[in-house]
Amino acid sequence: MLIVMHKEATQQDLDAVIKRIEDHGWEAKPIPGGERIAIGVLRNKGPVDPALFLDLPGVRDVIPVSKPYKLVSREMHSNDTVITLGQGKDAVEIGSQNLVLMAGPCAVESENQALEIAHAVKEAGAKLFRGGAFKPRSSPYSFQGLGKKGLEILARVREETGLFIITEATDHEVCDIVEEYTDIIQIGTRNMQNYRLLRRAGQAKKPVLLKRGMWATMDEFLMAAEYIMSEGNDKVLLCERGIRTFTRHSRNTLDVNAIPYMRKESHLPIVVDPSHAAGRRDQVIPLARAVAAMGVDGLLIEVHTQPEKALSDGPQSLYPRQFHELVAGLKDMNINL
Ligand code: PEP
Ligand code: MN
Repeated sequence: MLIVMHKEATQQDLDAVIKRIEDHGWEAKPIPGGERIAIGVLRNKGPVDPALFLDLPGVRDVIPVSKPYKLVSREMHSNDTVITLGQGKDAVEIGSQNLVLMAGPCAVESENQALEIAHAVKEAGAKLFRGGAFKPRSSPYSFQGLGKKGLEILARVREETGLFIITEATDHEVCDIVEEYTDIIQIGTRNMQNYRLLRRAGQAKKPVLLKRGMWATMDEFLMAAEYIMSEGNDKVLLCERGIRTFTRHSRNTLDVNAIPYMRKESHLPIVVDPSHAAGRRDQVIPLARAVAAMGVDGLLIEVHTQPEKALSDGPQSLYPRQFHELVAGLKDMNINL
């Protein structure tokens, strides 16, 4: 349920609506909007009678929200959410009229490796450096990441290059330290329904990029984002990274249909990860171009200077030269970077 106020409504009018919501044991969530002020009703178990609010001064309309996800939905929040990193001339806006490039290796392997790749992607036009310090690997015998040392290297990358950092929190325990070091907390596909982690990320003061589970429907994905928002974190980015299908010509299938669907259903910024969708280098650039043409807000791309020696996801990592090519191609498409 969304209670839309008149433009002229006073703070007193708003307080009275909030009080009435809370008197019923529900939660009131004021939604800042351009023109109109609205208040969402959350945590109601059954339907809410609009008549409860229509008689209050300043109330213009009461709109039922039909979706199971509320805070995530465009019904509740009609304007696109813009997430800003940094301040002043160095600020980066995600969800605005531009496409933000986030690039780097799958995993942070050493300071030299990270810095070399960071300089290369920065020169090409990336605004964020990606790299896992805690890696969720299919095999327990595979490289699991450098942990805290990896985060320290990421901090060094930020200091030396000015790139913002995005890195994964693999469980709620490491979320504390990841939050401390990173600019955006990444939640991986395997953790999309790790509710304890989602709640913890919802309490974080940093934006959260939530990857779609490789098996998840859109409803499940958007409900997972709702978990984060329901804890108070409004800065969530939705990331499509490919889903499992029967095909063998790629690691996953990039669900391009999901992009207009998410755009319609949600106000949150949309990021696409063509690297994990493809699983192979030769498909990354075409997929990136396709979704750029669809107007996504960000691309998350794996880049490595020596992919053949990479400790994870080498086959899908672009060479820096290819990342440059991708960026040049996006500029030719008149994509605003
Ligand atoms: C990653 O970004 O390196 C990663 C592990 O992604 P995903 O969770 O999509 O597999
Ligand atoms: Mn990877």
